[in-house]
Amino acid sequence: MLKQSSSDPNLNNTVTTPCIISLVVLNYAKLRILEFYYDFMARYVYRKDFQYVTMDTDSGYMSLSAPLEKIIRPELCLEYFQNYGSWLPKLFCQQHKDAFIKTRMQSKESKMEKCCEAQLKFDKNSPGLFKTEFVGDGIIALNSKTYFCWGSIGQTKLSSNGLSKTQNDLRKDLECTILKPLIVSSLCH
Ligand SMILES: [Zn+2]
Repeated sequence: MLKQSSSDPNLNNTVTTPCIISLVVLNYAKLRILEFYYDFMARYVYRKDFQYVTMDTDSGYMSLSAPLEKIIRPELCLEYFQNYGSWLPKLFCQQHKDAFIKTRMQSKESKMEKCCEAQLKFDKNSPGLFKTEFVGDGIIALNSKTYFCWGSIGQTKLSSNGLSKTQNDLRKDLECTILKPLIVSSLCH
């Protein structure tokens, strides 16, 4: 723990989070998100098929030219499925890994047994694996933590960190009503 002292009584604080742990967790998170970009996306997908829109400490938003498995480089397809569980929540248990790889290499959907479903559930709560946060048709991202995504059936996701929701009309009417106040507010951060 870090104890900060000062002649100003308002600044006498005891920081209860061990700062070295916070620093390590933050740095590992940032390292992992960069690994995902360079060792996963840039390796397995042609650059023409994906474009990052925004990246944060523990998440990234990107546009894909097709669903991920359809744009994996054909020559690296086997390696992609072999390493699948190192990056994404596994759709298979250890026992069914080979069957999963074989089925997906034939571009077929693999059947999930109860044991595989349990593995997937566990992996969805495991740190270091990349889960799908939102899938949609478009995104306006002005800077990290300030974006608006929308999907085809009306679902949306908004992050407006640092912006006052009472002063900004952050509604669904995209092109003008949202973008305009966001730009103004973002410049005033
Ligand atoms: Zn299984």
